[in-house]
Amino acid sequence: MAFEFIQAALAERRKDNLFRQVTTLDSALGALIEVDGQYYLNFSSNDYLGMRQSTAVMQGWIDGIGQFGGGSGASPLVTGHTLAHQALQEHLAHSLNRDAVLLFNSGFAANQGLCQALFQSPISQKNTHEGHIVADKLMHASLLDGAMSSDTTLRRFSHNDSAHLQRLLAKIHAGAEGKTQDILLATEGVFSMDGDEAPLQELAAISAQHNAWLMVDDAHGFGVLGETGMGALEQHGLNQQHVPVLMATFGKAIGTAGAFIAGSQELIDYLTNFAKHYIYSTAMPPAQAVATLASLQAIQQSDQRALLQDNISYFRQLANAEGIVLTPSMTAIQPIIIGSPERTVCISQGLRKMGLWVSAIRTPTVPKGTDRLRITLSAAHHKKDIQALVDGLTLVMGDDAYGA
Ligand SMILES: *Cc1c(COP(=O)(O)O)cnc(C)c1O
Repeated sequence: MAFEFIQAALAERRKDNLFRQVTTLDSALGALIEVDGQYYLNFSSNDYLGMRQSTAVMQGWIDGIGQFGGGSGASPLVTGHTLAHQALQEHLAHSLNRDAVLLFNSGFAANQGLCQALFQSPISQKNTHEGHIVADKLMHASLLDGAMSSDTTLRRFSHNDSAHLQRLLAKIHAGAEGKTQDILLATEGVFSMDGDEAPLQELAAISAQHNAWLMVDDAHGFGVLGETGMGALEQHGLNQQHVPVLMATFGKAIGTAGAFIAGSQELIDYLTNFAKHYIYSTAMPPAQAVATLASLQAIQQSDQRALLQDNISYFRQLANAEGIVLTPSMTAIQPIIIGSPERTVCISQGLRKMGLWVSAIRTPTVPKGTDRLRITLSAAHHKKDIQALVDGLTLVMGDDAYGA
């Protein structure tokens, strides 16, 4: 029988307690979500600044629809690229101090398109050039998958471990056999499951020393970090020479959807010509570009980022006082490592009974033995929401019924 593996794969997922299913939300308002008629405080959203329901974003969508209608109607190189897309690209390039910016429909597509375009060396170069992607062990699935589906070798260095990275790079150089090497060193500004940050200045120095290009996926730092919310690179004062490839998304702190890559004019021209995920995909709705630009302008001026920082400090202070073991993360992503998938799910369900929505993140999304609650905080949370969360965590984690 064909495709017999499907049944076996599903059975194994169920047996290991790792079967995944979507949850349908009836409604979502601020930090509240409604599921099956019940309301929950949501601690599992990437809407870190509460921008999704900001006046700026909602009015932006409406204005954009009024101007351009519901969709873009074509891929960007055909007739899908409008003034709205152009304005967003120019605003980003200017704010990030990069030559140019290219929009993608998702971060997943941007990472895949980038890897495939950078490592599809023409046949004529096969004997003289070789490509390498060296990525942090905890790099997002979209980049790892892009790397694996491109014409290159993928190596991973231990998380944030510069010494291990140096050894890998030395090994790559030693194996060059006279070939020219194109090395992309990939990391994240803020790691999605851990909330910790990459030592970007150190990585920039290492990549310069090894003639590699540093690529930063700043999905979780963009909008949140830096003086004007322009992300991890703004925070660390890293320019286009230090970090030739910057990728970030709009679906998290910006409150819309989509993504971009920023870099030199040459890189952006190259991607415009060779990134298949850009060329063969309908451009994002113009209204989405209008709303995204409105969000960026609002974020750059607002105090939402200070509110978020306040909530992060408040959560850590309350949790520490209750003896809850936290990780060193200082960002909106605050994981609590539980260690087994069963207990993690059990605690997550216990919290749910108390009206607290905290998702259980299990292997294979995170390494085995590090199954965790992934708490995400937002400027949309009130102090009393955070008090309720810590009270709930204290009760459930200390209760034998939940495997304490
Ligand atoms: C969310 C995320 C992506 C994917 O972005 P989408 O726009 O949601 O497809 C890529 N990289 C990282 C680190 C992310 O967290």
